Amino acid sequence: MVGNRGRDTKPELALRSAVHALGLRYRVGARLPGMRRTADLLFERAKVAVFVDGCFWHGCATHCRVPSTNREYWLAKTMQNGARDKDTDTKLRAAGWTVVRVWEHEDTGEAALSVATAVATRSRLQSLSP
Ligand SMILES: [Zn+2]
Repeated sequence: MVGNRGRDTKPELALRSAVHALGLRYRVGARLPGMRRTADLLFERAKVAVFVDGCFWHGCATHCRVPSTNREYWLAKTMQNGARDKDTDTKLRAAGWTVVRVWEHEDTGEAALSVATAVATRSRLQSLSP
């Protein structure tokens, strides 16, 4: 579980290829505007940022089991990650972005569809504005 951090995790790759199969094109691991953080999938024109959250690192209510060794450390760590996620979402939304978060345990097909819906919604809104 500990080695599951970082880029190109399995659930990330699965989502990327599912979204790609729907005909959508995006940037991978792109830096977020004004932040020293990256999105897993970034749709710049539509202003949609997608994050695939690992159940352990991001404290999924169903799957996150904090190890009993160094419990305090891991608890602090997952809480820190959660707080950072919230902060990222708040900043992005304030800058007019749509944020889509997907748990690694979620069904890839469904997750890809919600990403596609978010992108389509944003694109439609943009084409309506002058
Ligand atoms: Zn989970």
